[in-house]
Order: sequence, then C-alpha cells, then structure tokens
Amino acid sequence: MTRLEVNLSADMPGHLFGCWIRRTHAASQTKFSTQGVTSPHKWCLPATRHSGNGFCRLSALRFSHRGGRKTVWILRPGHYSKPCGFPQKSVRPQEARMLKSRTVMKVSPGAGNLGIDTRMLAPPREGEVLLKIKRAAICGTDLHIYHWNDWAARNYETPLVLGHEFCAEVLETGPGVTSVSIGQIVSGETHLFCDRCEQCRANRRHTCLNLRLFSKSGFGCFSDYSVVPANALRVVPDRISMDTATVLEPLGVGVRAAMEGDVSGRSVLVTGCGPIGLYTIVAARALGAASITAVDLSKRRLEMAIRAGADEALAPQVPPEFMMTADVDLVIDASGSADAIESAMEMIKPGGKLLLVGLPGRNLSIPPVRLINREITVTGIYGRLIDETWLEMERLLTSGRLRLDAIETCEFPMTEFDAAFERAASGTTGKVLFNLDS
Ligand SMILES: [Zn+2]
Ligand SMILES: [Zn+2]
Repeated sequence: MTRLEVNLSADMPGHLFGCWIRRTHAASQTKFSTQGVTSPHKWCLPATRHSGNGFCRLSALRFSHRGGRKTVWILRPGHYSKPCGFPQKSVRPQEARMLKSRTVMKVSPGAGNLGIDTRMLAPPREGEVLLKIKRAAICGTDLHIYHWNDWAARNYETPLVLGHEFCAEVLETGPGVTSVSIGQIVSGETHLFCDRCEQCRANRRHTCLNLRLFSKSGFGCFSDYSVVPANALRVVPDRISMDTATVLEPLGVGVRAAMEGDVSGRSVLVTGCGPIGLYTIVAARALGAASITAVDLSKRRLEMAIRAGADEALAPQVPPEFMMTADVDLVIDASGSADAIESAMEMIKPGGKLLLVGLPGRNLSIPPVRLINREITVTGIYGRLIDETWLEMERLLTSGRLRLDAIETCEFPMTEFDAAFERAASGTTGKVLFNLDS
C-alpha cells in the first residue's frame, strides 16, 4: 500500500468532501473520501494502483462539495502527484477498494417484503464493469416479483436484488474490457449471451442456448452501484436523454415488435397499454403504421395511448360486432391476457399477423382452422435483436422520429421503494423510475 501526494493550488476550492481521481495511464478510477480539507494544501491519498515508476499521472479530479454539487478539474502539470512518505496503513488493496452500495432487495417470499440492504462491492473482475447507477425503471417483471405471484414464486428465489432497466456511468472497467470506457453513459441489454452457441452464431443472440437473464443473475440496478458484465452494456448516444436511456430495454421490445410486424402502411391493433404497449405504439407510429388502434381496460391508459400516437383507443366493452370485424393487418399483444388475444385474433385479416409480447397466464384457445384458412402467422417476441433492434432504436431516437415525451414518467428516490412499486402497479403513469443520481 502506498500513498500519493496531490498538490492542490490556491485556486482549488475551500472545503472538499470527496474526490474522484482519473488516471491517464490506466483505465481505472478510484474513490477516496476526505473531510474538511482546506486549500492551499498537500493532500495525501491511499493509492492502490499507480504507475511502476512511482509517479502517477493524474488527469482529472472530481470533487463533491458540501451541497452535493460536483466539479471536475482537469489538472495542470503542477498538480501531478508523487509518492510521499506518509505512514502506511496495513489495508489489503482489495479491501481498500470495496465500495459501499445501497440496494433495494426482495427480502423474502410473499407480497411486498422489500428492504434496503447495504453491500460492499468488490472491484470489477475480468470482463466486468463497475457502474454508478443514475436512473433505474420498474419493469413488469419487477412487479411480478414485488407481488410474488405464481410465476415469480416458480422462477425466483429470495433474497433477490431487484432491477434490470437502467442508465449508468462507467466508473471502472475490469481487465480485458474494451467495449466501454470510463465516464461513458450506458444502458443495459438484459439477455446475456454466450456468443459461441449455434443461436449466437446464427445472429440470434437474444435466444442464445446459454442465455442468462440479467434479472436472475444477482446484478440488480435499484442500487447506488453495480458490477455487471461488459457485454450487457450499450453506450448511449449523446443525443439520448438520461430518462430515455433508462427505458431503452423495454422500448426495444416495442421497436422490435413494430419492426417484426413490418408496420409501414399497415393497420395495427395493440392490445394492452402498459409501458410495453405504449412503447409499441410510439414505435409503430415512428415506423409508418397507417393506423393504430389501442385496446385496454383502463381509461387512463387509453388516454395515454392516444397521446402516444394511437388513432383510436377502445375499451374491450365496445359492441362485440365492432370487435369481431376482421380489418387489421397486425395485432401486437402487450397485455398478456389470453382473453384479449383470443378476441383480437378475430380481427386479423387473412394473411395478417399476430405478435405475442405479453406472456398469457393460461394456454390460448385458437382454432387451427382459423389460422389455416386465413393464413395467419403467429410469432413470439422475446426481447430485442442484438444489435439490430438497438441500432434501429438509436437511429429513430437520435433522428427525432421516435419521441417519448408523450409517455409520462414519475421519479422516486430509492428509499421510497414501496411507494414507487405501488405507483407502478396502479397503472396511473407510463413508467416509474428511481432517481439514484446522488
Ligand atoms: Zn424489463
Ligand atoms: Zn449463445
């Protein structure tokens, strides 16, 4: 363990409460804490990594002030550090670099039962990246886990770290990581693929034979920090806002459905206007659908569907004869309701398509004769094509063709996790986010 001496000049601030050091010679960034430092002064810091010649060339310092503001100084040559003769504490480097992180956990089975746990994160290992989570969004999967329905009870075990939709800053990269670098803003692909199997080689990474799901792998992002595999990360283009970057993963499902349905010039019926249904509507509009009809039980969601770009929004209680008219080219189900899918099936024109995004709670009853005589194609949508869907989504967003302004979001701090989950479950807003940028 060595210590570094950093010479701060008189133009540096008075009271500093924390410092980030970025080194030019190594892809690493380490957090140090101090209190009540007054300039001008010499500041001695523990250093767990430095260059072999004893001199560590620092390129930037980021300070947290008392009020929570952060400032970055690009260091001039006089600010470079050198090893100093301060007494060394006997701390193992690994322990010195453990990072304290609060995280929202599902503590035990049953409805609710969430809590905040504080964990110590080890530095990223080979192929891993340390992230400062900025925002995270509650997904339908998180809600299933929150309510602990049969599906969640079958598929998950507690204690469980929650959250898989996020936007974060890269703080440190482990050995061998070249796809992202420190300071970049990233979002996450939640289908973790092996890149070796037959499906991956056939450009179907989203259905990798060795697929691991982010939500089941213990990473979690309703946290201050997280260490995740580098191949789960997508660098967010500059023109995409942080709130939009947080929902790229679910938005990608809507974009994929609209792409798969080849919506341009076609009439589209979207059943279910939760977040995925709303994202499907904005994507279908951006990709040139001729008409979009939205169906949902909730009046509030139907209003959101119209704002998102649907031409018509219907409650399923409309006269059955209207609902039975076979006049749409494409049905995209985002409701996961078997009843809704079976009714919507009646509305598909011969030669049309049914795309299933939501997971129904029971088997469907669709007469094969209808599929055969009308030559209807039924396709499942399982996540995003990696990388095609991401590239198309980024193109639509950066060109301004796809906008999420019309989809309401509301933000909660991490500590209000119960209120956030209840709000998401109420269906009274488009998407619920945690703001973790503190
Ligand atoms: Zn999700
Ligand atoms: Zn694979």
